[in-house]
Amino acid sequence: DLGSAAAPLPSVSKSNIECRWSDITSYATKKKVHSWCQLPNGNWELGRIMSTSGIESVISLPDGKVLKVNSDSLIPANPDILDGVDDLMQLSYLNEPSVIFNLQYRYNQDMIYTKAGPVLVAINPFKEVSLYGNDCIEAYKNKSIESPHVYAIADTAIREMTRDEVNQSIIISGESGAGKTETAKIAMQYLAALGGGSGIEYEILKTNPILEAFGNAKTLRNDNSSRFGKLIEIHFTETGKISGAKIQTFLLEKSRVVQCANGERSYHIFYQLCAGAPRALREKLNLKDVDDYKYLKQSNCYSITGVDDAEQFRIVKEALDVVHVSKEDQESVFAMLAAVLWLGNVSFTMIDNENHVEAVADESLINVAKLIGCDTAGLNLALSTRKMRVGNDNIVQKLTLSQAIDTRDALAKSIYACLFEWLVEQINKSLAVGKRRTGRSISILDIYGFESFDRNSFEQFCINYANERLQQHFNRHLFKLEQEEYIQDGIDWTKVDFDDNQDCLNLFEKKPLGLLSLLNEESTFPNGTDFTFANKLKQHLKSNPCFRGEREKAFTVSHFAGEVTYDTTGFLEKNRDLLHLDSIQLLSSCSCYLPQTFASNMLNQSEKPVVGPLHKAGGAVSQKLSVATKFKGQLFQLMQRLESTTPHFIRCIKPNNFKSPGAYEQGLVLQQLRCCGVLEVVRISRSGFPTRMSHQKFSRRYGFLLPENVALQDPLSVSVAILHQFNILPEMYQVGYTKLFFRTGQIGVLEDTRNHTL
Ligand code: ADP
Ligand code: MG
Repeated sequence: DLGSAAAPLPSVSKSNIECRWSDITSYATKKKVHSWCQLPNGNWELGRIMSTSGIESVISLPDGKVLKVNSDSLIPANPDILDGVDDLMQLSYLNEPSVIFNLQYRYNQDMIYTKAGPVLVAINPFKEVSLYGNDCIEAYKNKSIESPHVYAIADTAIREMTRDEVNQSIIISGESGAGKTETAKIAMQYLAALGGGSGIEYEILKTNPILEAFGNAKTLRNDNSSRFGKLIEIHFTETGKISGAKIQTFLLEKSRVVQCANGERSYHIFYQLCAGAPRALREKLNLKDVDDYKYLKQSNCYSITGVDDAEQFRIVKEALDVVHVSKEDQESVFAMLAAVLWLGNVSFTMIDNENHVEAVADESLINVAKLIGCDTAGLNLALSTRKMRVGNDNIVQKLTLSQAIDTRDALAKSIYACLFEWLVEQINKSLAVGKRRTGRSISILDIYGFESFDRNSFEQFCINYANERLQQHFNRHLFKLEQEEYIQDGIDWTKVDFDDNQDCLNLFEKKPLGLLSLLNEESTFPNGTDFTFANKLKQHLKSNPCFRGEREKAFTVSHFAGEVTYDTTGFLEKNRDLLHLDSIQLLSSCSCYLPQTFASNMLNQSEKPVVGPLHKAGGAVSQKLSVATKFKGQLFQLMQRLESTTPHFIRCIKPNNFKSPGAYEQGLVLQQLRCCGVLEVVRISRSGFPTRMSHQKFSRRYGFLLPENVALQDPLSVSVAILHQFNILPEMYQVGYTKLFFRTGQIGVLEDTRNHTL
C-alpha cells in the first residue's frame, strides 16, 4: 500500500527545487539564515547556518545540537513572516520541505485547508474541527472570511456557473481514508444552504446515509470506506435554486458481499439491519445475530468503534422515507438483505461418488426460498444443477461442490448489486430534475483514489485505470491548456514539464493489443484462464515501457502514482461476471417483486441469452458486456461530461495511517503531494500570467488615461503606451499576439488608477 508503508522520507527530487543555497552567491552572506537540512533519519529540520566552507556547512538545530552537513543538502527556508501562508504560491522558496512544513504549520492549528494555486489541498484532521456549520457558511457567503475552504470552492462554483453560464464540477481525489467523501458532503452542505428553499436539498443530503449504508464498509484503511465511485449532478434554476439532482455510481465492489479480509466488514447495512430491526421485522425475516451468518462471520469483525449500528439503521430508514421509498419497498429491500445473508449459510451435501452435490434442505435454504418467494426445490435445483443444450437435447448437469458454492455466491452478489442499482434508481426518481431547470449544474465527483496494496486484483486494476484518466484531465486543465494558450499567443515562456500519462493510458486502451482488449478477448474464450491471460499480456506487451511481466500470473504497470503489481487470479471471472441463466430464471419466477425486477433488468442489459459451453463450467449464461467494457464506457462518458464543465480540484491528503488526530508524517504527505503533481501546479501558477485581456478590451478600458493623440492609435500601440505610462514593470506582463498577460495582482494597480480618475 502506497499509504501504509512506513515511508522513509524520499530525497528531494531535483525538479522540485527552484534554487539551492549554492546558487545564491556566497555562503558568507547567508550566515545565520534559516535553512532546511535533512537529518540522517530522512526527516527535514529547520536549522541556522553557523558557518560554511563551500563543501561543508555547520548548522545549529532548534534543540541546541550542532551538525556538520554537506552544503549541497541544504535547502533555503522561507522567512518567518511566511510561516503558514494560506496559498503555497506565496512562498518565496518553493521546495518540498517548505511545502510540507507550511502544511504542517497550518495543520497543527486546525487549518486543514490550503490553496496550492488553483487547487485546494485538504488534510484529514481525524477529529472534529470547528470550521463548519451555518455561521461559517454565512461567513463564506458574505465573503467575510477568505481563508481556503471547501465552502469557498463551492461558492466559486456557484458564482461561475451563474456568471459564465457554464456547468461546473468539483473533482475530489486522494487515497482511501484521505477524506474525499467527507469533503463531498461538506461541499453539498454549502450548495444546499445557498441553493435551498424548495426542500429538495434536504432529500439530496439524505442520499448520503443511504448510499453509505449500502455502499460503504469498514476496511483496514478507513472505517467508512466507499466501495463505489459516485458522481452527483446538482441542478439549479435560473435564480440559482436547486431544482433536482442525479446520482451516477461506478463499479460497486460486490465481491465484498461474499468475501472479506480479516478485520474488515461487509457493507454497513447488514450489521445495521441485524442490530436495529424492530422485533416484528426480525421475526418476519427470521433475522439472527451477525455472528450467525457465515458471510459476516468470516472476517471476524462485527462492530466499529464509536458507531451504533442500531441507531444508524434508524437513520437509514428515515432517509429512505425522505427520498420516497415506500414502507413496503423498504421491507422488500430488507428481505433481500436477509436473503443474501441466509444464502451464505446454505450448505451442500455429496449425493454420489462423482463429487456432485445438492443443497442441504435446512433452515437456511427454507429462509432464502421464503424471502425471495420461490419454492425450496426450485432454489435447490438452481444452486446445484445447470441446464445445458447438447445438440438438440436439453440435459441437466449436476454441479460439484466448488461449482455449487460459486453459483450460490454469484447469486448473492448479483442480488446485492441489483439491489444497490435499484436503490440508486429510486433515489434518482425522487430527486428528478423538475421542469424549472435551466440545464445548469454543479457535479461533485467522489471516486476511489489510486490503490496499491500488497496484493492487487481486478478491482485495483479498474480503479487505477480510472485514476489515470482523471489525472490526465487534471494535467490537461492545469498544465496543458494553460501553457498552450501562452504558446499560441506567442509569449516568451519556458515550458514547465509535467508527467504526461498518455503512454500508460495507451497501455490500457490500445486496440487490439492493450490491457483491456486482451482481457476482454481472453474472457470470451471458453478455455481462457487467468494463466493464459497473463501469458498473452507478457507476449504482446513486453516491449511497452509501462508494462512488465512478473513471475507466474502477475504483471506490473507503471502508473503516474507509482508501480503496481497485479495478480491476475480471478481477473477473467470477475470480468465475465456471469450469472447462469438458471439463476436468472429462478429470480424471474419468484413471487416477490424485487427479484423479478432484478431478473428483468439483467435480461435487458444482456445482449441475448446464449446457450452453450461459453463458460468453462459449461451451461447457459447470460451474455453481457464485460465488466471492464462497461466500466470503460462509463468512464468515457464521465470524462466527456467533465470536459464540458469548469473544473475545481480538491486534493485530499491523509496525514498518517493510524486515523489519529495530530500525527503528521512528512514522508507520507510528501508522497501524496508528489503523486498528484501539486508542486508543479503551484510552480506553473506562480511563474505564469493568470490575468489576461485582449488588446482591444485593454485599450478601451484604460486608453482614456492617455493623451488623446496616443489613444487614437491601434489597440496594440495603445496597450503598450498604457503599460509604459503606468510604469508596469516588464517582468510583470507579456504582450501576446492577441492578448496581454499579467502576473497576479497587476491588474489591481491599473484598476485603482482607473477608479481614481473616473
Ligand atoms: P475517503 O472517502 O477519502 O476514503 P472519508 O471521507 O471516508 O475518506 O474520511 C475518512 C474518515 O476521516 C472519516 O470517517 C472521518 O472520521 C475523518 N474525516 C475526513 N474528513 C474529515 C473532516 N473534514 N473533519 C473531520 N473528520 C474528517
Ligand atoms: Mg469515500
